[in-house]
Amino acid sequence: MQKSELKQLIEQASGRTEADIVFKNAQIVDVYNARLIKGNLAIGNGKILGIGDDYHGKQEIDVAGKYITPGLIDPHIHIESASVSPAVFGQLATPHGTTTILADPHEIVNVAGVQII
Ligand SMILES: [Zn+2]
Repeated sequence: MQKSELKQLIEQASGRTEADIVFKNAQIVDVYNARLIKGNLAIGNGKILGIGDDYHGKQEIDVAGKYITPGLIDPHIHIESASVSPAVFGQLATPHGTTTILADPHEIVNVAGVQII
């Protein structure tokens, strides 16, 4: 991250300058504390700036009645068992909220076998 970007994010997060986007009236899922937070979520340069009623954005979107959740992380997946390419797997998983996977490719060894000399 460039110093200028960090400075801009700090200015936006503090509320001294407008955020890029503010999602208003959201139900924000706090997975660490197993609770919902009602409020406004501010975004700057694709990053979460903060949650608070005082944020204003260049773009403000009213999401009343909707939820904002962090992307899901699947910590153990065998992409090859899905019989699709990694790119297609990503296209299928992303709309359901999975944004990160940790792939265990051991099935490739089962299929390819060992090299016979
Ligand atoms: Zn495995």
